[in-house]
Amino acid sequence: MASGHRSILIAGAGATGLTAALELARRGFLARIVASGAGPVPLTESRALGINARTLTLLSPSRVTDVILQEAQQLARFRITSRGRLLVDLDTTKVPGPYSAIHALAQGHTERLLLGKLSDYEIVPEWNTVVEAVSGDLLKPSVTLRKADGSVEIVDFDIVVGADGSHSAVRKAVGIGFPGEALESSFYLADFRYAVPIDPGFAEINLVDPGIIGRLPVTRDVLRYISTLSDFESRIEHPAPIAERVWASDFRIHFRHVETMTKGNVFLAGDAAHIHSPAGARGMNLGIEDACWLAWLISQGREKEYSELRMPAVKAVLKQTYRLTSLITMTNPASIAIRNLAAPLIFRIPAFSQKLLRSVSGYDTQSPPWIDGAL
Ligand SMILES: Cc1cc2nc3c(=O)[nH]c(=O)nc-3n(C[C@H](O)[C@H](O)[C@H](O)COP(=O)(O)OP(=O)(O)OC[C@H]3O[C@@H](n4cnc5c(N)ncnc54)[C@H](O)[C@@H]3O)c2cc1C
Repeated sequence: MASGHRSILIAGAGATGLTAALELARRGFLARIVASGAGPVPLTESRALGINARTLTLLSPSRVTDVILQEAQQLARFRITSRGRLLVDLDTTKVPGPYSAIHALAQGHTERLLLGKLSDYEIVPEWNTVVEAVSGDLLKPSVTLRKADGSVEIVDFDIVVGADGSHSAVRKAVGIGFPGEALESSFYLADFRYAVPIDPGFAEINLVDPGIIGRLPVTRDVLRYISTLSDFESRIEHPAPIAERVWASDFRIHFRHVETMTKGNVFLAGDAAHIHSPAGARGMNLGIEDACWLAWLISQGREKEYSELRMPAVKAVLKQTYRLTSLITMTNPASIAIRNLAAPLIFRIPAFSQKLLRSVSGYDTQSPPWIDGAL
């Protein structure tokens, strides 16, 4: 498919790939988008829940923000509790700009809203289509695609965007490493639907020492609990009778990022380029941000600047989520006691709270120069 004046393939139709396709389309670049999956993330699997203010800013020109705000839950407060004691109660709406720091919307909903806007440009992902190889001269990469019926297509593109997740075939094919580490500890989560509506307006971390149980709203009657403890479900104090345990999962946390997001005319974005813990809810947001920057740079003919512009944001977010994760996974009783004593005092310092809210909002990375007045 001709795209503006260049042929573009986007590998992956998660939030990153869909955003890249949309941001290109609204500038007249119609990319081809393929995904190995059969469709967007199922609505029952909440996965990436947090949508930060930076993402809402980035998706405002395409008007995806308008529809997100109609469906998402605003997280007006962030609380930390310990043994029934409220240590921290932060008002997350007190950030500059038009949006509060963070909203919650299940990943499958976000992906469907992006798909809906993409369909306005008559772009539909080619599902069940796997990128098997990227080869040849990477200034005009040749891509091998295997389709659902088993047929193989080999096509040359001017630009290939690898938005194909943490196991990225594109990244491996072009020989970009993914160094980093996996944490020893695992994280566990479960989503519960309640028989009556619950208060969806806040997120909470309960320090159970050692370990945490976090509570996040998914909808007005579904809550996610996430924990460092395998037996956390038996410790949850549910706010209402349970109607259904909707979804449960566990995962190990990796901190990894590429050293460069570009090789020739192949560009990596989202989880294909960086993965880290869900603490701070940055993963999907960072991928959406990559996609927006890349689309803007391509439209300007400046895509060579992509890696240099994005790597500082990637490194900063990984560093910050690593610190947050260390704080919630600590097991040493003395360190835990100091943390619990210090938390209420530190959060009372306005400069600290403002800095934290700025990063939860996603405003700690470079602001998008193509959006007037963006923070
Ligand atoms: C439990 C959990 C909670 C999370 N919470 C948050 C949160 O609150 N906030 C947040 O920002 N992030 C969160 N994340 C992280 C978030 O889910 C990811 O960062 C996000 O999904 C990455 O999006 P992506 O589009 O880059 O990759 P993915 O969502 O992994 O999408 C990859 C796409 O590539 C396709 N694909 C894969 N291989 C190939 C191939 N060979 N050829 C073609 N297509 C291919 C797939 O089918 C898919 O369409 C969470 C993650 C987990 C697991």
